Amino acid sequence: MGLMIRSSAIHAAGCYTTAPIRKGVRVVEYTGPRLRKAEADQIYEDSPITYLFGIGSRSIVIDGHGAAMFLNHSCDPNCETDEIGDRVWILAIRNIAPGEELTYDYNLYDGDEDEADCNCGAPACRKTMYSPAEIARRERVAKRKKKK
Ligand SMILES: [Zn+2]
Repeated sequence: MGLMIRSSAIHAAGCYTTAPIRKGVRVVEYTGPRLRKAEADQIYEDSPITYLFGIGSRSIVIDGHGAAMFLNHSCDPNCETDEIGDRVWILAIRNIAPGEELTYDYNLYDGDEDEADCNCGAPACRKTMYSPAEIARRERVAKRKKKK
């Protein structure tokens, strides 16, 4: 599979395909060492950018190393992630043409205070990389804070 890392309009660097990819194909594995969530939080406490991918019950994260960590978030993505056991694959959810940037919906869930603004440019962009469930949770928390 021909993948290429180069600068992206969405964020710093992105992962592009040089060959057509058919819907349903496993494009690349999200590889990297496995860390306990608490351990990873400690290591990356002061880093603005991390490439951690929560798996299983989310108590274990993959510390991304490899092409898959360069995939940017999009609210209208052409890929999704597929967990098979303790491995994570990037799966094409539509046919992708050569030269297209590969994206998936991060659906961030980590409830810290960090902003995660989205600039993917999709018409249906929700302006954040948090999942709809996490957005709802954060709105509830914000309302509670206002009442104080
Ligand atoms: Zn977006």
